[in-house]
Amino acid sequence: MALHKQDEAYAAFEKDPESFWKYQAEQLVWHKKPQTTYKKFTKKLPNGIEHDTWQWYPDGEISTSYNAVTRHVEAGHGDNIAIKWDSPVTGSKQNITYKQLEEDISILAGALREEGVRKGDVVIIYMPMIPAALVGMLAVARLGAIHAVVFGGFSASSLAQRIDDSRAKAILTASCGIEGAKGPLPYKPMVRGAVEQAKHKPLKVFIWQRDESRWNDTDRLAGERTWQRVVKGARDRGVRAENVPVKSNEPLYIIYTSGTTGSPKGVVREAGGHAVGLNFTVRYVFGIRGPGDTLFTASDIGWVVGHSYIVYGPLLAGASTILFEGKPVGTPNADTFWRILDEHKVNTMFTAPTALRAIRKDDPQNKFFKARGEKGGLKNLRALFLAGERSEPAIVTMYNELIQKHCAPNATVIDNWWSSESGSPMTSLALLPGVALNFNDHKFYTPLPIKPGSAGKPVPGFTIRIVSDDGAPVPQGEMGNIVLGIPLSPTGLTTLWQDAPRFHKSYLARFDAKYIDTGDAGLIDASGFVHIMSRADDVINVAAHRLSTGQIEQAISTHPSITEAAVVSIPDPLKGHAPFAFIAIAPPPSDPAALLADLNARLRHAIGPIASLAGFIAKPGIIPKTRSGKTLRRCLKEMLEHAVAGEWEKEVVYPATIEDPSVVGKAKEAVREYFEMGEGKRLKAKL
Ligand code: AMP
Repeated sequence: MALHKQDEAYAAFEKDPESFWKYQAEQLVWHKKPQTTYKKFTKKLPNGIEHDTWQWYPDGEISTSYNAVTRHVEAGHGDNIAIKWDSPVTGSKQNITYKQLEEDISILAGALREEGVRKGDVVIIYMPMIPAALVGMLAVARLGAIHAVVFGGFSASSLAQRIDDSRAKAILTASCGIEGAKGPLPYKPMVRGAVEQAKHKPLKVFIWQRDESRWNDTDRLAGERTWQRVVKGARDRGVRAENVPVKSNEPLYIIYTSGTTGSPKGVVREAGGHAVGLNFTVRYVFGIRGPGDTLFTASDIGWVVGHSYIVYGPLLAGASTILFEGKPVGTPNADTFWRILDEHKVNTMFTAPTALRAIRKDDPQNKFFKARGEKGGLKNLRALFLAGERSEPAIVTMYNELIQKHCAPNATVIDNWWSSESGSPMTSLALLPGVALNFNDHKFYTPLPIKPGSAGKPVPGFTIRIVSDDGAPVPQGEMGNIVLGIPLSPTGLTTLWQDAPRFHKSYLARFDAKYIDTGDAGLIDASGFVHIMSRADDVINVAAHRLSTGQIEQAISTHPSITEAAVVSIPDPLKGHAPFAFIAIAPPPSDPAALLADLNARLRHAIGPIASLAGFIAKPGIIPKTRSGKTLRRCLKEMLEHAVAGEWEKEVVYPATIEDPSVVGKAKEAVREYFEMGEGKRLKAKL
């Protein structure tokens, strides 16, 4: 049987990765064309440890902003729209052409240079989802400087930590963000607080004034500038900066990943490999061919998905990107995403499953989607990509049916798996697999059929293996640690900012520097599809059986009234651990014992009796999440451990990325209530 084009592409990568990535690099403009595609060498760390590492395009020099913006203007595409800003929270919309973007970037870069920002300096970007944020990122890149985007709205102490770690020279910020329907969130207390707390003092703070809530002009500190005023001055004086190329392995940006404990890790993204990998994947995976195509990534520029597919991917392709300032629901309603698809004729959409769950909760019958679909408004959409956490089959299937009915022929939902460290999808299905072998092959092959519950197949650049805790391969179909072969794709990290020993400790040490540890657990099935089942830390060991929280949540979610489930382990004197669920269900269960029996019957059927729940708590608003939609299972697990030990006064640790800290308090209360009465009291007595 002939190989599917996606399998053919991967086979070509596997056979000769160097030629594969050489060909992809040829699709960009280099200030100095690399003669070497790949170099392997041994790195010696200050602590004496040595490990193998690699470089992509070591002798190349490139300017990412040239490739993402200037190149398109020079090619005569200056009038194409680069950014379509759609902000339901402020009632604003704005289209920005490549020509205008080029102009804005060159002026801001010139102004930043006048304020002392140079090649290699770090600039923190703490911004809401407005065009100035993208102009800021690209202007920093234009100078050959390094941006570190910090999610707008993070606390002063989180921002201070990142200022100290990056030793930022300047901060680009705005007077406020808009927190969905809640309205403006002034940034001044966070930015001022952070600068006060930080040991390292940035030189300059540029403030983009927004009318929704202004940053007071009268009590400015030295170094605080109104962005618009500085830019106007620079424009009037004809100040401009040209694109400054950097060496391929020099950083384009740092992105901090949050840990629950300890200081955040600064993932370094190298300029050359990043540009090549994104120029490739925005086409190969997401099917964005170039001018005329529109990508809508409903994420935030503070996350890696936003860096890659709101900003760099679509712009490197010369396409249009939607910059959305709003929420999936409440701004003003669950139609917002579908309105954007309709109005902007979006070809590819990318979001997180948590956004779809929120929409499904507000519009369970999908009235909004169907209404637009029936009028033919969604015909341009070729795929709805999902990532950030596991997508349960129920949500994939539901949206896949809708999309197949109302969108482009062969349109599908595509789960794809990646991380801040990978920079681009490690597994997915590909919309334009032909570009791997022939960059001009823009044929939309029918994608491989989706398997709900799987995040697809490996993307060229990533070698995926499943291994046991001691690094041995596990039999096909069995769950284990998901690791990556070395080297990673050119978009992948090779170090942490100013902390090579921590890179070794975090990713290499666990499997003797043979593999990169992803921290995820899952399996590869007989047809080569990868299933990401949970974080490795969340695997529940029940009487020596390893169960994934994803597997259990998936079985529970088949209950028609359950809209969300988070499963964690609870200590059990006999089995070591047992699964315990936090669920959102409407209407609330009238007979909890009957519901538990029902859920356990489902689990017995789907997994086996070993997966039976010890208990559950059903209450709205008790599943804590990060702002990017990841369930904070570790918090829930800690609460249960404290409850079983009767240590009610103990604090639960949660990361700075938490969306709503009050959920932790509510969950704690619910846990206490549960264990002091009825079912829970009986369970506690047994444990
Ligand atoms: P971050 O670095 O914050 O983007 O988080 C990366 C982590 O998110 C991964 O290691 C996974 O645990 C999780 N993740 C991302 N995409 C998926 C997916 N499609 N399915 C399951 N988990 C995912």
